[in-house]
This record gives sequence, structure tokens and C-alpha cells, in this order.
Amino acid sequence: MKQMSPLEEIRHSAAHIMATAVLRLFPEAKLDIGPPTSMGFYYDFDLDHKFTADDLKRIQTEMKAVVKEKQPFERIEVTREEADSFFRKIGQHYKIGRLADIPEGEPITFYRNGEFTDLCAGTHVETTRNVRAFKLLSIAGAYHRGSEKNKQLQRIYGTAFPQKEELKAYLHQMEEAKKRDHRKIGKDQRLFHIDDDVGQGLILWTPSGAIIRQQLQNFISEELRKQGYEQVFTPHIGKLGLYRTSGHFPYYSDSQYPPIVHRAELSQLAEEGCSCAELSNKIDTGEIDGYLLKPMNCPMHIKLFASQPHSYRDLPVRFAEFGTVYRWEQSGELTGMTRVRGFTQDDAHLFCTDEQVADELKGCLYLVKVILNTLGMTNYRVRVGLREPDSDKYAGEAENWEKAEKVLLEVAESMGVPFTKEVGEAAFYGPKIDFVVSDVIGREWQLGTVQVDYNLPERFDLHYVGADNKPHRPVLVHRAPFGSMERFCGVLIEHFGGNFPTWLAPEQVRLLPITDNQNEFAESIFEKLFAVGIRAFVDSQSDKLGAKIRRAETEKTPYMLIIGAKEAEKGEVSVRSRVNKSNEGNFSVEEFISRIKHEVENRTLPQLAES
Ligand SMILES: [Zn+2]
Ligand SMILES: [Zn+2]
Repeated sequence: MKQMSPLEEIRHSAAHIMATAVLRLFPEAKLDIGPPTSMGFYYDFDLDHKFTADDLKRIQTEMKAVVKEKQPFERIEVTREEADSFFRKIGQHYKIGRLADIPEGEPITFYRNGEFTDLCAGTHVETTRNVRAFKLLSIAGAYHRGSEKNKQLQRIYGTAFPQKEELKAYLHQMEEAKKRDHRKIGKDQRLFHIDDDVGQGLILWTPSGAIIRQQLQNFISEELRKQGYEQVFTPHIGKLGLYRTSGHFPYYSDSQYPPIVHRAELSQLAEEGCSCAELSNKIDTGEIDGYLLKPMNCPMHIKLFASQPHSYRDLPVRFAEFGTVYRWEQSGELTGMTRVRGFTQDDAHLFCTDEQVADELKGCLYLVKVILNTLGMTNYRVRVGLREPDSDKYAGEAENWEKAEKVLLEVAESMGVPFTKEVGEAAFYGPKIDFVVSDVIGREWQLGTVQVDYNLPERFDLHYVGADNKPHRPVLVHRAPFGSMERFCGVLIEHFGGNFPTWLAPEQVRLLPITDNQNEFAESIFEKLFAVGIRAFVDSQSDKLGAKIRRAETEKTPYMLIIGAKEAEKGEVSVRSRVNKSNEGNFSVEEFISRIKHEVENRTLPQLAES
């Protein structure tokens, strides 16, 4: 039995209470599981009736009744046979399936509250009365055991907190989050598209979304260049053998797209009577070599490094690539841009000596700091993943690990941001740092990582010639501090609530001629802006000015330039900015251009309002 945290206990107990209420209202419901989550809890039900918003209210009311009844959670240890016959008797077949998951020899426990008995390992609060602040939130479809091959069940999500005020604050945050949902803003502002015919989890960037991404990439590339990184490009597929050497295949095949084997080769094998199982085995063992859609960029950067001899004087070598990789996520896990199947990492691999690791890590963290500060994400923390002491599951020398961990901690400390040590969270090949940023409404987003790796240099037999003229093993640092461009842009959309700073905004200036008579002058200003790289658009529709202003406001364009007869005559524009929401007065076109250019070049932030 795993002891849950007090918050988890409240949430998980709330799931039991919800199941109790659902069975009172819908006795024919079949129950699957109801674990706590990081945001609350859920329970999966199989029921012909489709839950409605009204049902949620009724269930919530019934839950309150169950809470009032102050039912104790009672733990009952049973035998496998007893459990089996109990669930057969009450016709809860999912529970019988879950019972079979419990390994032989482990205790099998029921938890009972009132009339409801669940198969559960615990743990719970004392009585239902301990769950005071909860709310049911939504209904979603969820495949049994997360597999599309199984029946789709109805999942009810809820959340619970120890105190009513905490629940209230959370619900307020959720409301804010809904307004900022990048899927909604992405649609409203036409930033990206996901198309069933292309595939779920595969992002199509619209011209507007592509501008944001391109500006971000330019910015990151500029900073990388300053820090001595070199840009490389590598292909989207590579031979399976490469990923066998790196250890990514076949061990992680569940999270990869299937290997690519040429049709002609498959037909030939089929003709020879090769069964599917044999074929799969031949692919796994390397008897057939196909290609793999790239799940990681590292092996290719390693091959680039290995393609040249290196002396210690050449190190560190820093290869950067916005490298697109593909991973197989369960369809139920996919969310807009933040959980996808194809994504472009802001990836880089640093090859250095043991002595250089510290400075390289510092460089990585410094870079992250610069970029996050520019984006107004000044509130972030780092998690330092360390190895479990006395465990033999790690690659590399204990001595190097100690050094790397010490360095990571020193570097984290020197950054002046909050950090936590997480023992046992290191990768088996080296310690790491994860970045977690808080957005303007206080939600945390995990971005990317910096990892020290002693394993891949070994597997690929990398070396450089040291000052002693002997071959030495370099250390590899992997870093993708923003995770991926998809995820990072999704997070930024929510962070800015669609109000992008001028340098990122797909449309920076909207020109609003008051009548058709000013269209020509507006066009001439457009040309001037275009010539200096400012992204503008002339709204020459024949609407009233008020309507044009509202449209530009809804679309969150940073600047409106209003042009009437007077302005056209004087060669001026009346400036209205998104930040000030009022007219700032008249300026010459040149004055405005120099102001906006300054803002773009300095990547100035807009004031981030909470709406
Ligand atoms: Zn339970
Ligand atoms: Zn890597």
C-alpha cells in the first residue's frame, strides 16, 4: 500500500464519495477506477445514459449528502476468491479485471463507506465528513485502460481541497485559464490547426502562428550564437541500428512511431512465409534494418561530433538544432500544442571535458534566464534531479556523478531562483535540471531540461585527444530548456492571453482609414511599414470606425493607426495602442516608425493585464 499525501487522500476519498453518489442515482452504472490527480480526482463509469451537466449537479448534491452522513472509510482485507465472488454478485466486471492486476501474494483490500464497497489499496481520510470543499468539473470520454481498442467510458472530473477558500481560489484560476486556453485563442487568432486527416497531435502552423514561432526561434538563435553554439541540421529519419546503439530502440518502442521498413522487403518476407511475430522479432533484433522516425536528435549530433577528430583544445563543441522529433502519445493524452506527437525541440548537445561541465551548465541556465526574462516569465523554479544513493542502476563513474551533482546544485544556487532537490529523479545516465515556470495567473508549466550524460559517449565510443596526447571520453550535455516550440508557444499564448508583445505579434499595426478617401494614404503608410519589416494590415472595409476599432481590439493588434482627412492632409497618423486603450495623439509616420522599431528591437513587453 502506498501512503497518499493528505491532499491526495482528500481527493481520492472524494472519488469514492462520487462513486457512492453515482450508484445512488444510477444503480446500473459500472465502475472502473477513481484515482487522485495533480489537479483533483476522477472516476470512470460505464453507463448507457450519457451524463449531462444537470446530472453533474445532482451528483454533486448527492455527494454532499454522503459527506453529511459522516461514513467512516473501513479497510477490509479479503481473499482473491472473496473479492471475485463479491464483484460477480454485484455485476461489477471492471473490478474483476482490476483484481487480476493485483500480483499474487499482495494483500487484496476493500474499502467500505456506507453502502459502497470498492476494490482499493488506499489510502483515505477517516470519514466522508473530512471532504468538505469539492466540486465536480467536467465529463469526458476515456477509453478503458487508455486503449482505443477498449470501450469508451465516461470520466467525471472533480477537484477537492482541504479548505473552501483554496477551492474558491482554484476555481477562479480555472476561469482565468479558460479565457486563456491556447486552443481557444489559437482558433480565434488562427495560429495553428490540427486536422484529423493529417493526424492528431500533429500541428499545422498557420502563417500567423509561424510568425510567432519564427520570431522566437530567431531570438533563441541569436542568444545561442552569442554563447558559441553552432547551428546544425539533421534528417527526420535514421536507421534503426543507430537507435539500437543509442538504446532508444527497441526499449522505448511504445513511445515511438513504428519502424519504417520498405514495402518491397515486407512483401518478399511475406512470400517467404514470415509471420508477423517473426517479422517483428527480426526488426527488434536487427536482422531487418529499417528506419525510425526520429524520437531524439542526440544520436545524429553525436555522429556529427564523431565525424571529426577532436583535441581538448576544440572543446566544448556545442551543436544546436531546432530538431523535429516524433513520439507516440496516447490519443487521450493529446492536448492542443502542449501535448503533441510531432514537435520541434530547441535542442542542443554540448560535448565537453569533465572540467568544463560546470561552466557549460552555467551557460545553459544563463541562457534560460535571459530568454524567460525577455518574455516576462520571471517567476520560475528549477528541480535538480539527483541519483538515489547506493543504487547500482546508474551509468558512469560514481566520482563523476558526485562532481556533476555538486556542480548542478552550485549552479542552481548561483542562479538565485528557488530550487528543489529531487533524490531518485536523475536519469540513469546522469543528473538533470528541469525548469518549471509560473504564468501570470500562477499556473505552473514544466518546460524543458538540461541533462548531464555519461552513457551515450560510452555507447558511441566518443573520444577526444587530451593534453596528455591520450584519448579521453567527453561528457555530453543535452539541453532543450523550452522543451519544444509547440509546447513553448502554447504556454506563451496562455501566458500572454493572446496579447503578444509587439515583436511577437503576427500583426503589429492595423491601419484604419476613416473613409474610403483615406485608403490610398493608408496604403502608402503600409508600404513604409512593410519596407522596414513591420507587419501591418489595412482595414479598408466600409464599416464605421468604431466597428473597425473593436475588431482590431478583439484581434489584439498592438497598434491601431487611425487616419482621417486631417491626418491624410498633414501626413500624420493618430495612434491608439492596445496597452493604453485610448488615442495617444497624432504623430508623423516617421515618428511612429521609430517608436515601434525601438519596441520591436528591444523586445519590449506589454503590461500584462489579468484579462
Ligand atoms: Zn480508495
Ligand atoms: Zn539529447
